[in-house]
Amino acid sequence: MALDTADTGLDFDPDALRERYRLERDRRLRPEANDQYVEVKGDFSHYVDDPYVEPGFTRAALTDTVDVVIIGGGFGGLMAGAQLRKAGADTIRIIEKGGDFGGTWYWNRYPGAQCDVEAYIYLPLLEETGFLPKEKYSYAPEILAHARRIGEHFDLYKDACFQTQISELRWLEDEKLWLVTTNRDDRMKARFVIMSNGPLNRPKLPGIPGIDRYKGHSFHTSRWDYGYTGGDTTGNLDKLADKRVAIIGTGATGIQCVSHLGRHAKQLYVFQRTPSSVDLRGNRPTDPAWAKSLTPGWQKRRMDNFNLLVSGLPQDEDQVQDGWTDIIRNLSAMVPARLADGAAMTMEELERQVELADFRKMNQIRARVDEVVKDPKTAEALKPWYRQFCKRPTFNDDYLPTFNRPNVQLIDTLGRGVDSVTETGLVFDGVEYEVDCIIFATGFEVGTAYTRRAGFEVYGVGGQTLTDHWTSGMKTLHGFYSHGFPNCFHLGITQNALTVNFPHMLDEQVQHVAALIQEASDRQARTIEPTVDGESGWVRTVRESPQANLQFRRDCTPGYYNGEGTAGSGAGIFEQLYGPGPVAFYDLVRDWRAAGTFDGLAIA
Ligand code: NDP
Repeated sequence: MALDTADTGLDFDPDALRERYRLERDRRLRPEANDQYVEVKGDFSHYVDDPYVEPGFTRAALTDTVDVVIIGGGFGGLMAGAQLRKAGADTIRIIEKGGDFGGTWYWNRYPGAQCDVEAYIYLPLLEETGFLPKEKYSYAPEILAHARRIGEHFDLYKDACFQTQISELRWLEDEKLWLVTTNRDDRMKARFVIMSNGPLNRPKLPGIPGIDRYKGHSFHTSRWDYGYTGGDTTGNLDKLADKRVAIIGTGATGIQCVSHLGRHAKQLYVFQRTPSSVDLRGNRPTDPAWAKSLTPGWQKRRMDNFNLLVSGLPQDEDQVQDGWTDIIRNLSAMVPARLADGAAMTMEELERQVELADFRKMNQIRARVDEVVKDPKTAEALKPWYRQFCKRPTFNDDYLPTFNRPNVQLIDTLGRGVDSVTETGLVFDGVEYEVDCIIFATGFEVGTAYTRRAGFEVYGVGGQTLTDHWTSGMKTLHGFYSHGFPNCFHLGITQNALTVNFPHMLDEQVQHVAALIQEASDRQARTIEPTVDGESGWVRTVRESPQANLQFRRDCTPGYYNGEGTAGSGAGIFEQLYGPGPVAFYDLVRDWRAAGTFDGLAIA
């Protein structure tokens, strides 16, 4: 093996790895990019029916006026509700499509569902609600229960409209209010609207030829059909004992539910297009001594420590110490050693060191597959060949051993995907796999129009639609609001900065929105709206800010992180973000608020 001579002590060939990564990416690039997926509507709409509620729910239509309508009862909506409640907002209404609070954790109840961000930093408002998770990594029921706990603690249930879908939002210029209409015939009005629809809320299906022909049972993982499989989110899928099951998709969701399917199905086929990186989970119960040692403000300090580390800013301590911070830890260990030579590290050298740390990490991940999976051909097929953060890294101790079971077969589609669907099964490479059930672990829409994912249109001043306003990409000030859409705030991924710990990002956003609502109230102002210049200035800042890791994303295997291989086109989840990253973004927004001049925003 030709080793890179500039590096001493390397037991791998960086050039060979770069070449392998390039080949694996190229064989997966598809000209249709995001259009390879079919929209879940029409004949496919049953894939998004809510399996967790009883049919027949009705309630009286609402026609009153409230201070704030929050759209979405996930953590964003709950945190906004909690913050507004603390600030003394009189009337809040939370409108949620599902039958309860929880958002993504309401929908994703598939067996094995678990959060792979540490529970002590992921579950919001732990100190306020007096709760400490049972384990370092929470399973879905604990997270869903915590969402409900927040709802109860902050008395938000009385303000919630569940099983309700917004039909449209319309700005009433004369009244300076939003008219909110819903599928429950509501025509309520609100002074402010906070949209917290969630970034991965709309399930997507692969556009495999014949997908509409299949006559067996099928469902998407975010609407798990326990009536068919038996069991619950902890497993015990006893009704699958005589069933042949296919699962399509081996992303973070597939990785978590495959072991349960393997344990219970008569036969399981796992259709893989790209393998995930699967690292050790190593979950453990919460240490009571550690719990006792916590002092007020601990959760925020821990969240900040994690965020700084995963943003690449080395810290004296790593409080979370897990797979997310691992790669940064490796890197920090390397950098001082280099600087000790007396040489300043150039950006190129730093990038090179990061890449080497990444190669090492992925070599470990691949070696682990060989250690666990007995059949060498299957093991080889399960190895990911890309840089760790090209796709969502996963952590699971049961996934790989599942492939040692005699009833489980990996169908490696070599980056191509399933060839076709027939009335009775799936076809790859001329072989038909007949199955009783197909489970789609194929993820969620990213990069489609915001209003399509939200499921409703927003009509601003003069009837202008948000779809039109954002037709060539989002246009906001700091990601929160747009010109022509007064008093309408966005939470989530909108021209701001994304971090691994999503609720941390929501927390920063909620503080901002609540502070501005307070400001408007103090001034007895009726509207908050960015000026034309304020909005265009921010759009320019975002578009011109060095796009974080653009080349990195271009080199990555396709997926929703890079717009299915179109990095730079605006379709990936990391596009249209503030390049310098979350730490810089939170500082910027806090400083902007603290300055008190609210540049670019009209509060009138
Ligand atoms: P993903 O989009 O990550 O994965 C979809 C899977 O479907 C991929 O493996 C994809 O392959 C595969 N696929 C798509 N089309 C085809 C096809 N035609 N033939 C075969 N396979 C196909 O969705 P997930 O639901 O797994 O995860 C979505 C996100 O949700 C995660 O990235 C994560 O952010 C979040 N999540 C978080 C969890 C947590 O622990 N916090 C747990 C679960 C999800 P390919 O890779 O080739 O595109």
